[in-house]
Amino acid sequence: MSTSEELISREHRVIYQTYKRLPVAIDRAEGCHIYASDGRVYLDMLAGIAVNALGHSHPRIIDAAEKQLHRYLHVSNFFYQEPQVRLAEMLTARSGYSKVVFTNSGAEAWDAAMKLARAYGSTRERVGNIIAFKGGFHGRTYGALSVMDKPLYKKGMEPFLPGTRVLPYNDIAALRDEVNATTCAVTLELIQGEGGISVASDDFVQELVRLRDKYGFAIIADEVQTGVGRTGDFFAFEHYGFKPDIVTMAKGIGGGLPLGAVLASEALSAVWQQGQHGTTYGGNALACATGIVVMEEIERGLMENVRAMGARLREGLEAVRSEFPGIVTEVRGRGLMLGLALNQNSTPLRDALLERGVITSATADTVLRIVPPLVIGTSEIEEFLGVLRTALDAVKSTPKQA
Ligand code: PLP
Repeated sequence: MSTSEELISREHRVIYQTYKRLPVAIDRAEGCHIYASDGRVYLDMLAGIAVNALGHSHPRIIDAAEKQLHRYLHVSNFFYQEPQVRLAEMLTARSGYSKVVFTNSGAEAWDAAMKLARAYGSTRERVGNIIAFKGGFHGRTYGALSVMDKPLYKKGMEPFLPGTRVLPYNDIAALRDEVNATTCAVTLELIQGEGGISVASDDFVQELVRLRDKYGFAIIADEVQTGVGRTGDFFAFEHYGFKPDIVTMAKGIGGGLPLGAVLASEALSAVWQQGQHGTTYGGNALACATGIVVMEEIERGLMENVRAMGARLREGLEAVRSEFPGIVTEVRGRGLMLGLALNQNSTPLRDALLERGVITSATADTVLRIVPPLVIGTSEIEEFLGVLRTALDAVKSTPKQA
């Protein structure tokens, strides 16, 4: 096997340099730990960007994948497949939605959701804008980028989809000004992940729902990062006590394999006829087999751990905030989707944590994103909080770069 340096230079030679990778070459991973090829062990507080709900190498995931590997891997959507149907049954039973469209990723789920909203809107003369919010992240396809505002992601790749608007997040007045009886859909993350763990305010969501009831547009909730129990509820929207018309999922639902899903009510699902949407791999049997294990673990009480560990982690982070008032300004998020907002760029803190054996991510310039596996325990949380204190001590004196 290559050393880390060798692997990094080989990667630079042959892979398009679109990722700002951490300087860690992976050997293997287990539970909440990642083992690098140079022998270092890291505590994983990122979980593959909120993917590995059950941690790494979970025995039940391995078992389900092995069994499915021996049955068949890919046969295409020309056929009826038990793992797809079973997972769809579990998702609809859990959510109360009536139908599922499987995809391979979050961005693809997002595009499918936008298409579905347009198809539904066109049957009801709601062909106006699809509205989204600043700071939102929905993926890297043209559809997703068309409702995002970050210039870096879009520069030079224009033109994007017409009929979209991006408004300030949590701004009730801007929302009221924009929506009307022709609005096709309003789309949002209830907690913006890439956008810095920014939480939709109760008032904002309440007004959004009131406007939907008044005008009849669809609400599309992007639960790609927040879904599958990460916030302590199965979906983040449950916290607000309303039901979106369309929901997108990915990340946690595949248990580490690429899988996405769109959930919708019967009325919305009925607008697509055979042939109007599809993908070769969507709902791949292997990914659905591991997805079933994730759902079984949810049924067995995984979210109780999220709530308990989320509360413990939050309490610890609040203590850290009061110990480092010169750097840490806020703790935000819900469950095991938490952010530490700083008054300076968060990359030095992420790097100081990495040097000390903890993986996190720096997002929205000044936020440290903490999205560990949902199976995390108290000892890992205590370990993380201890290392966080030493890392904050180390960056305390670095000049502000925000
Ligand atoms: N939506 C949200 C909220 C996300 O966080 C992401 C990815 O980070 C996506 C959509 C896109 O998912 P994918 O990277 O699987 O295309």
